[in-house]
Amino acid sequence: MTAVRSVSARPTTMAEFLAAGLPSFSFEFFPPKTSEGERQLWTALRQIEALRPSFVSVTYGAGGSTRDGTIRVTERIATETTLTPIAHLTAVNHSVAELRQVIGNYAGAGVRNVLVLRGDPPGDPQGTWTAHPQGLEYASELVSLVRAAGDFCVGVAAFPDKHPRSPDLDTDARHLVAKFDAGADYAITQFFFGADDYFRLVERVRALGCDKPIIPGIMPVTNVSQIVRMAQLSGAALPSDLVDRLRAVADDPAAVRAVGVDVATELSRRLLDGGAPGLHFITLNRSSATREIFQAVR
Ligand code: FAD
Repeated sequence: MTAVRSVSARPTTMAEFLAAGLPSFSFEFFPPKTSEGERQLWTALRQIEALRPSFVSVTYGAGGSTRDGTIRVTERIATETTLTPIAHLTAVNHSVAELRQVIGNYAGAGVRNVLVLRGDPPGDPQGTWTAHPQGLEYASELVSLVRAAGDFCVGVAAFPDKHPRSPDLDTDARHLVAKFDAGADYAITQFFFGADDYFRLVERVRALGCDKPIIPGIMPVTNVSQIVRMAQLSGAALPSDLVDRLRAVADDPAAVRAVGVDVATELSRRLLDGGAPGLHFITLNRSSATREIFQAVR
């Protein structure tokens, strides 16, 4: 007789998922600002739902601008779909009291997974970071706050190419380990293009005595100027051979997309073969490229 596994038997937090030895495949979305954007988001979410991913995550807008949108979309995912949401949360422009309120809203919406980030200065992501006067300075402090607020599974950000503000890779790794020491269960990385950069980050963290899972973030290139801009903001290194391949077909959007999907599929395979505990796909609310990669590698 074939064993039937009910949906409710699936782990509901990332920590449970990874502890069960299951690779995690998650997809990241952002809360839209228009009704057309809302339609696009829900089309993409329903397409992803059909593939039964481990999780879907919802970003928290720059400057805390989409707080209500993040709560609304995450709550709807939790109540109207079979997907398990991860809600992002940043410390930008929030006092500790406000942060506690957002965390309470997440709990009320049935959200148990929170991806904790410091965020960037509103307006100019590369500007000087100034904490809210009654707020928090670093993501590690927000990890402690979320952990103390309830039974949440907490993720944090990691940077294979180094956070743009960190002086060097070792310091960056120490700050990541501080987030694990504060109670984070796992990390998801910024997008990157070099598998070896990811493996070296994992090695640096292991050398500091920390064995927490680090999930690679994957973003397929579907638009040349967009990826150049995003790489500048995030500090991700864009390999020159990739830029050359993309520039050679820059006038043909379908060819750019094909190169982007090819490169991301190859990277995903190398990462999983090398022991990565899963993959986190950045969808930009369009699911087709990330669905293709997921179906090719899972
Ligand atoms: P931190 O861990 O606080 O690090 C920030 C900087 O401070 C780093 O340079 C770090 O090395 C340094 N640092 C940390 N601790 C110390 C210390 N004790 N002393 C001195 N320096 C220290 N942004 C959003 O606005 N919304 C989102 O939804 C969002 N989602 C993201 C998802 C992922 C997977 C990733 C990788 C990033 C995401 N970001 C998001 C971007 C993120 O907010 C920025 O990259 C931000 O600049 C850093 O956030 P952090 O949580 O890594 O901060």
